[in-house]
Amino acid sequence: MSFKSLGLSEPILKAILEKGYETPSPIQAKAIPPVLEGHDVLASAQTGTGKTAGFTLPMLHYLSENPKDKYRPIRALVLTPTRELAAQVFENVKEYSEYLNIRSAVIFGGVNQKPQVAKIRQGVDILVATPGRLLDLESQGLLSLKRVEMFVLDEADRMLDMGFLRDIERVMKLMPDKRQNLMFSATFSKDIKKLAYSILNNPVQVEATPENTAVEIIEQKVYRVAKGKKTGLIIKLISEGNWQQVLVFTRTKHGANKLTKKMASAGITAAAIHGNKSQGARTKALAGFKSGKIRVLVATDIAARGLDIPLLPHVINFELPNISEDYVHRIGRTGRAGAEGQAISLVSADETTYLKGIEKLIGESIEVEIVEGFEPDPNASTEPIKPGQNRNKGRGGSRSSNSRNSGGNKSSNRNRSRNRSRNRN
Ligand code: ADP
Ligand code: MG
Repeated sequence: MSFKSLGLSEPILKAILEKGYETPSPIQAKAIPPVLEGHDVLASAQTGTGKTAGFTLPMLHYLSENPKDKYRPIRALVLTPTRELAAQVFENVKEYSEYLNIRSAVIFGGVNQKPQVAKIRQGVDILVATPGRLLDLESQGLLSLKRVEMFVLDEADRMLDMGFLRDIERVMKLMPDKRQNLMFSATFSKDIKKLAYSILNNPVQVEATPENTAVEIIEQKVYRVAKGKKTGLIIKLISEGNWQQVLVFTRTKHGANKLTKKMASAGITAAAIHGNKSQGARTKALAGFKSGKIRVLVATDIAARGLDIPLLPHVINFELPNISEDYVHRIGRTGRAGAEGQAISLVSADETTYLKGIEKLIGESIEVEIVEGFEPDPNASTEPIKPGQNRNKGRGGSRSSNSRNSGGNKSSNRNRSRNRSRNRN
């Protein structure tokens, strides 16, 4: 199987070659042909499997092979849930369209709208957008979706988790009825299927499931520790292990900030990435982490969603997530592409219930270690932290969708829907 045999045009093949891709990934091989044929498509595959090219390449092919209007109305719209994802998709669009006469733009909130509006005014064929800014500019009469021929809902599961259903419905009303619709998602839940029914017409459904579940490739370990000693322990583990690229999950934004400061004063370069950070700060943190300038990236679940972070040797749960499935999503950040990874969780007494839930979900118990000087507090309460104490709750809680075993694991899906309904109450 080659990109050429999928029927993509020469300029696109050239750009792919320059990206260094040799063969289409399984989800690309499955999704690209029906998209090129003009079908509506529902595609699901775990994070990191190349879904972006799965819709971008055939979209570029279609638009460039069927030029329409020299004034360039928006002909293709890609909706993504977060600014980072929008920026990432846009980067991909730009790279793959390098040798095509195609113009594209990206819009998201949190930054001045003026440059975005100016860009759109010049005419763009493809617009990548987050829902809020899109609806905002549309209602100001600064852009029109009346000529959209192709609509892509990327990271659809995260869209739902983040409460964008209403916005998606509003966006759909702004586009012509006759259009091609594509939906890409990391997971394949009942809610996703429901959304698919309302957006897609006679969709072709494609799915690529990973062979191994996270649990098989990733070495997992729990450190039982007193709550107040977690910071000391994490600093010790990172310094003594001389770990260079570590992703740390905290439950709250506040916790992420606090931990980042403590790391910095211990001489470990760290940055936090979460919803309260400015766009500039987030982009900088991510770039610094990818380039190796920043050793530790501290993230909340929502901020980490779908981010294209390369294979990570170490993922640490500074706190366990209160939704068991999030654990699997988080540790899926390590051990990618068959390489080995280590997932460590610092667990205090009040997280015992969460740990039990996680072990039940993954079907095994996780090795426990206690480090001298960082022992658990024997008098601490084992009462779970109440979900109400979770500052991240708000829009969609702290769910994440970076699953390695999504789709393939029935028990995890069951668990997810149970947790979801609980969250809604
Ligand atoms: P997803 O949306 O499924 O999470 P992305 O589209 O972000 O995945 O792709 C993940 C990574 O894989 C990116 O760095 C991308 O450049 C790379 N990639 C995509 N397709 C291929 C391919 N055919 N061969 C090699 N690498 C690829
Ligand atoms: Mg993606």
